[in-house]
This record gives sequence, C-alpha cells and structure tokens, in this order.
Amino acid sequence: MANKKEVGTPASDFSKDAPELKQAANLHQGMFDAVLSRLDMAFSKLNPSFNFQQVIKSPQKQVVVSLPVMMDDGKLQVFQGYRVIHSTALGPSKGGIRYAMDVDIDEVKALAAWMTFKCAIANIPYGGAKGGITCDPRKLSVGELERLTRAYTTAMADVFGVDKDIPAPDMGTGKREMAWIVDTYSKIHRVDAPGVVTGKPLTLGGSKGREAATGRGVMISCLEAMKKTGMDRKNATCAIQGFGNVGSNAAKLLNSKGIKVLAISDHTAGIFNPKGIDIDAAINYAKENGGMLKGFPGGENITNEELLLADVDVMVPAAVQNVITEHIAKNMKAKLVIEGANGPTLSEADAILFERGITVVPDILANGGGVTVSYFEWVQNKYGHYWTEDEVNTKHDASMSAAFENVWFNAKQYKTNLRTGAYITALKKLEKAVAYRGNY
Ligand code: GLU
Repeated sequence: MANKKEVGTPASDFSKDAPELKQAANLHQGMFDAVLSRLDMAFSKLNPSFNFQQVIKSPQKQVVVSLPVMMDDGKLQVFQGYRVIHSTALGPSKGGIRYAMDVDIDEVKALAAWMTFKCAIANIPYGGAKGGITCDPRKLSVGELERLTRAYTTAMADVFGVDKDIPAPDMGTGKREMAWIVDTYSKIHRVDAPGVVTGKPLTLGGSKGREAATGRGVMISCLEAMKKTGMDRKNATCAIQGFGNVGSNAAKLLNSKGIKVLAISDHTAGIFNPKGIDIDAAINYAKENGGMLKGFPGGENITNEELLLADVDVMVPAAVQNVITEHIAKNMKAKLVIEGANGPTLSEADAILFERGITVVPDILANGGGVTVSYFEWVQNKYGHYWTEDEVNTKHDASMSAAFENVWFNAKQYKTNLRTGAYITALKKLEKAVAYRGNY
C-alpha cells in the first residue's frame, strides 16, 4: 500500500520536511515564488483585502505519496507522487497530472495555483489542482506505466471525486493514463464514475474536441491578440516550441488560419524552414518515429535558443517552463508571444518583454482551452448526453474569446500587461467567492 501524508498549508511545506524532496525542490527553485511575485504585482494594482491575499497565497491541501511499483525486471521501485489542491473557492478542484523527472512539490504547487486562476479566467465553475509523479515516462514500459498510474490512483482514491477533485492529462500523460485512472477509481468505489477524470478516450466518455482543445485555444488567443494589436494575419509567421499535444495542434490550427509556421521543435530536434514547414508531414513523421521530430527532413536543424530568437511575428512556447529568460526576452524578434506551456516565461523576463512592446498572452489565458473542454466533457458525463465536435468547438471558441476580452479589458483598465490583467481578472472573481463563503 502507498503511504499517504496530508498536510494543510501554510503551516508546513513538504520541501522543508523531507530531505528527499528538498533535493528535488532545488531543481525548481522558485516556481511557486514566481507565482507569488506575479500575485504581488496584481495585488499592488487591485488592492484586495489582506485576508484574501493570505488565503489565495496558500495552497489548500498538499498530498505526497510513495508509490512502490513492481518493475518488469522483478525489482521494486518506489516513486514519489503528488497532488496539490490550491483552491476550491469556485468549485471542485481541477487540473492535470504530469509525469516528468523534475516534478516536485514546488512545481506542483505553482501549477495548481495557475489552474485556480485559469479556471476563474475561463469562467468555468472549478477550483485549481495539479498532480504529478517524478518519473521518466519514456523509460517505463506500458505495463510499468499502468501499474504506476493505478498505484497513484489507489493512493489518491479519497482525494479524487466527480464533485471533489478531477484530474486530466498534462505533460507525459494522455487518454491512455486517464482510462486507467477512471477504471481504477470506478473499481475502488464500485461505481461508474466517468466524470472523475477528463481527457478520456471517446469510448469511455471522453469529449469530441478535447485532444485538440489546448492547441485550439492557443489559436483563438493568437487571432484575438492579432486583432487587438493590428497585426496582419495573412502575412504572419510563427515559431512553435514543443510538438506534443499542444504544440502540434496549435501548429496545425495556426497554419489553417494562414499563419505560416517557420520553426518547430521538440526535445529531440529543432527545424527551421523559411518557406514554411509542412505541418501534416511533421505530424505524420513524429507519429511514425516514436513521437519524435529527430531526423525530420522538412527544413534545416536549429537549436532551441535559435528557435526562440527566430525572426517571426509570433512565438508559441508550448513545451516546458522557464524557457524565456532575460537573455531571450532581450533578443526576441517576435512581437507576440502566446504561452501554450505553463510558466514558460521567467518573472524577470516579463518586464523586459513589456518594455520592448512585445505582447504576451499569458499561460493562464492562452492555454485555458484544454480545461474549458475538460469542463464540457464533465458536463456531458453528468448529462450522459454527448455533443458533436462542432458544438464543442463553437462553445470553446466563444468561451476563449470572451475570456480574452475580459483580460484585455482589465489590463487596459489597470494600465498593465496582459499577465497582470489576467491575474486581476481571476482575483476579482476569487475574492468575491472567498468573501461570500466567509470564514470560521
Ligand atoms: N493539464 C491541462 C492544463 O494545464 C488541462 C487541465 C484540465 O483539463 O483539467 O491546463
């Protein structure tokens, strides 16, 4: 059985209590600090009550579990798993599960807080959470991944719940893992509970349009930002970092709107083609090449730094966090950044981009399309009635455009950038919810 430890914040922080976590936390010094510094920036403009400031800075619950898993070679390996529920002020907590080597409590705390703000901005009735397991999913067999996912779900069986806490895919996980989660949860609780997780395969109650939704939201955010800043879509070019679910769908959809994709990359390769990359060919190549772009013949090879500094109009970081450093911000040629990934820009780089007149559509707005369609999936599961892809996409596009408009309005009203405008949009709503709920 997994060992479980639940601790409420702010009194304690696992990274201080457990030496093994402290070591991992050092890899990510400051991700939650980056959230706090962005909150402080928004507080200085909005001036919310001190009580609310304290509440929203403190994740509601942090769960850390040890997961013993029998490996294919007959040896036992113990993995660390996490789930942080940042806030349930607006509804049950929602957020994905990440499988990556650098997952630690600090990262999960930051990602959970971002989910709270993302759901508030998307105007969906959810709080925010995030989960993760420190592992390299590329090095695990399918059987090992299944046992690990089922062990994690078993350990979190009392944390997750249709009206309580609803996971979804994130980096390193997808519909296969979500299927294992719904199956394990349903077996433990002896109920059919499709709504306990979103991002499921269609046959298990998934929603049409969910897989492409985050990329679709990136596309809508880009079009809205271009309209507002007067950028001509017809001759526009872009570069996309990351070619997983978000990056590849964003590439396809931006391309379909006439925005030429000149550069793409993943963890194995970067490719540049001044005439535009054939996105369908790249997607097919990656599919046949174990999900990797390495060796794709559609352009010349470039490094990740070259991609981020490419001479394009739009930059879409859709891979990992902390890639837009001060150096990149100072030298970036793009005029518009659409954050498909969570936390791609260091807080120190924000000011530089703002001063240089580069518009940044922040993660908590730009990649909200995924959780928006997760909400639609959950609603369909509750109804037991399913929508067409057109219905999903139409509702999604309207919801993303409304969210964009709202953030733009707040940024203008408070004379700030879109990131702080997005935080203000979320905080206004959250402050009301926290005040209505009251304290005891
Ligand atoms: N992991 C995605 C995100 O970061 C989706 C979350 C969800 O659908 O609950 O937004």
